[in-house]
Amino acid sequence: MPAIKMYNTMSRSVEDFKPIKPPSVGIYACGPTVYFYAHVGNMRAYVFEDVLRRALAHEGYLVTHVMNLTDVGHLASDADTGEDKLRSEATKEHKTMAQIADYYTKAFIDDISKLNILMPTRIVKASDHINDMLALIESLDSKGYIYQIKDANAGWYFDTSKFKDYGKLSGHTFAELNSTQQAGARVDRPSGLKNITDFAVWRLADESVKEMVWDSKFGRGFPGWHIECSAMSMKYLGNTFDIHCGGIDHIPIHHTNEIAQSESATGSKFVNYWFHVNFLTVNGEKMSKSKGNIYSMDDIAKKGYTPIAYRYFLLTSHYRSQQNFTFDALTNSQNTLNSIYAVVQKLSKVSSKFSKSDKSTIEYAENCRVKFFSAISNDFNTPEAIAAMHDLLSKSAGLVENSDIGVDAASGVLNVLMDFDSVLGIGLDNYTKARELPEGAAELIKERDSARGLKDFAKADQLRKELEEKFGIIIEDSNEGTHWYFKAK
Ligand SMILES: [Zn+2]
Repeated sequence: MPAIKMYNTMSRSVEDFKPIKPPSVGIYACGPTVYFYAHVGNMRAYVFEDVLRRALAHEGYLVTHVMNLTDVGHLASDADTGEDKLRSEATKEHKTMAQIADYYTKAFIDDISKLNILMPTRIVKASDHINDMLALIESLDSKGYIYQIKDANAGWYFDTSKFKDYGKLSGHTFAELNSTQQAGARVDRPSGLKNITDFAVWRLADESVKEMVWDSKFGRGFPGWHIECSAMSMKYLGNTFDIHCGGIDHIPIHHTNEIAQSESATGSKFVNYWFHVNFLTVNGEKMSKSKGNIYSMDDIAKKGYTPIAYRYFLLTSHYRSQQNFTFDALTNSQNTLNSIYAVVQKLSKVSSKFSKSDKSTIEYAENCRVKFFSAISNDFNTPEAIAAMHDLLSKSAGLVENSDIGVDAASGVLNVLMDFDSVLGIGLDNYTKARELPEGAAELIKERDSARGLKDFAKADQLRKELEEKFGIIIEDSNEGTHWYFKAK
């Protein structure tokens, strides 16, 4: 199998992946702020982080995947308004912040399970790591990197002018970032800031703040967002670790600030590879509440799509390209997925012992395996990998159709498909066992066959619909009779 090559945002180039201590690989992924349901756009990064993890595991790496949950309030939760959404959501719903965070954490875990995202090795809550964050802030303080502001935005701020190469992740210099007035226009920029790019590591809270607030030598308050990720990633993965992931929106501020704090505190390189997933637009537009184009996984399910169809849709674009979501595209993905499941089920039902073309079928499958994993190893090119999978699927569908495949060749093809699925995670294994017809379905199929025999196509059509609605069974007619298979669950 080829070695993994991956794009590194820091070098802006595709590099050979070399972990610090092979076969171990440490991955840190920025998780959600748990104050609302995650939307489909958020899920894009989590799905591709899962593909990254699965691809590394496939090559024999032992991956530790750490994801954080932001359950303490922070002022960066809305980049436009600087609003602390977790705190305001709690006030609005007359609940504690912990209750809000618990509720949406469960919803998030539920969503990622349905998307077949492997559970991170560790899911860590910010509120459980305040002492780690304070230790990091102390170390920054002892080295003279932070200063205090005492106005309405009272707190301790990181002096970005003291960090060499501030902004290098986004390809900017400190001077460039500080010459722009854009950053200064943000409402959460307090007046005492020394540089536009400085950011809070610890916010001080007045007495009205009762929850998610901690006493410390820096005063009573709560941590800034960026310090959470620096403290938790280094705690579990070490001062220097292999891969840090997130959406591209994290590059200019969140990850830039994580690098500044972490490297200032430890004096070591923070992360070797930066993996960033591009945006998802909806009908060509950025998702926003005012446009009403924000969909949750629940919204998609209510429209009758399976979560895996959404996962499949995501995999059809490269993670570094912007992808546009439409319900038409999702319908296509659902249909394609159903037809993939159909082929897998047909292959599972092959019972003839031998066909002359079996040897070449197995060779073809192995060829597709090489193509698939070359694509995956080349910066996780899922569209190209999926094309290799479809080559194999259409070839095998044709062989099944012509009864030109034996049991060994069919199971060889299935074996390759399962190998693909270990990276794609589209649930093919649910369809490999030839499943029995549920009670009542066989009768309906027979009834439909005789309706067709009597050329009563209206009745046959109605029975076809009934089979699909009641049992999720799809009927296909061919010269050799009626085939049935289960559609996506
Ligand atoms: Zn983060």
